[in-house]
Amino acid sequence: MSLPPFALLHNPVRPYAWGSPTAIPALTGTAPTGAPQAELWMGAHPSAPSELLAPDGAGGPQPLDELIQRYPNAMLGPDTVGRFGPALPFLFKVLAADRALSLQVHPTRTQAAAGYAAEEARGVPLDAPERVFKDPGHKPELICALGDFEALCGFRPAPDTARLLDALAVPLLARWADDLRAHPAAEVLPALLRRVLAEDRPTGPQLRDITRALHRLAAEGGPFAEACAGYARAAAQYPGDPGLVAALLLNHVRLTAGQALYLDAGVPHAYLRGVGVELMANSDNVLRCGLTPKHVDVDGLLAVTSFHTGEPQVLTALPGDRFEDEFPSPAEEFRLSRLRPGPAAVRAELPTPQILLCAEGRARLHAPGFADLDLPRGASVYLRPGAGPVELTGRGAELFRATTGAPAQAGTGWPNSRS
Ligand SMILES: [Zn+2]
Repeated sequence: MSLPPFALLHNPVRPYAWGSPTAIPALTGTAPTGAPQAELWMGAHPSAPSELLAPDGAGGPQPLDELIQRYPNAMLGPDTVGRFGPALPFLFKVLAADRALSLQVHPTRTQAAAGYAAEEARGVPLDAPERVFKDPGHKPELICALGDFEALCGFRPAPDTARLLDALAVPLLARWADDLRAHPAAEVLPALLRRVLAEDRPTGPQLRDITRALHRLAAEGGPFAEACAGYARAAAQYPGDPGLVAALLLNHVRLTAGQALYLDAGVPHAYLRGVGVELMANSDNVLRCGLTPKHVDVDGLLAVTSFHTGEPQVLTALPGDRFEDEFPSPAEEFRLSRLRPGPAAVRAELPTPQILLCAEGRARLHAPGFADLDLPRGASVYLRPGAGPVELTGRGAELFRATTGAPAQAGTGWPNSRS
């Protein structure tokens, strides 16, 4: 086998209904089709793997997951195979949302393993609509905005939520504001969710009252105006969905380009709109709690949700050197950084598998004995570890780099030397 050290990726696009028809085509320089293009997947997920276009042309494009299964050590390196088995431990995406995604929570690894085993034992088919755990893994995720980006993330501090519910002045919510002031949020919030999602779902007229109040607060200005505008849009996108009440309990976050959120297990979240790069452990385990036509398993949801309240932590990349900034996250499966190479070649030996996405400008990869690889804006490339030194140059280039996280972090490649 003579696989080159790097190869361009040909990536599948997921056409979920909430996707922007234009943002991903604008990034990749392709013509919009008129259909939504929600997510561009860069990775080896078996349901939609990227394909490698080998620069030497040998064998033509091949699915990355199949190449990894056939050549785990060559494609991932023995360290990564030892840590995670013969599979790429992360999935890298460009996400482009015109409308809100479902409100959701991801389980811990222990919860996922137990839930997966229980559903397997009960014989629930993997593709059944009520199936919750698609695999035994957890799914920490990190999203970095590429422009103006709106999200809901974690439960808002209880006194602030009580103020918002008061300001909405809707009878359905008044009692919960009092409860939030009188009792611990960790008791009130699960009771509220159980009530609105299962036992006593709000009626259409009640949801319309809330929506009217959201429009009023959005128009009046004040501390909740921006959040209320976001909630009102979500209400219009998912009419009659009781998840709107759950959304009111969460922090509304506005990110600008380069700002990021890390979503750990148990943290409820929803992306409302915007374009970003997202890096996550390679799992499909999602428990939905609203803003969705899909199955909502309320007991399962409450069992994995963390009812911790607080302000969300907005991350920015920590300056490494002048060439690479890293987004801090505790995930073992992945690490996200941003590279800004210039005309002087930066050289690296890579011990872990990597995917680079060129988000701005143009970059070029060079390895002795192989054809140079041009990375225009929107192009992505897979670099396999241990294939010798690789050099990167760029013109106005900004690249996002996905690779495995700690403990191998000390030696994931760039930046280590310059030539
Ligand atoms: Zn998520």
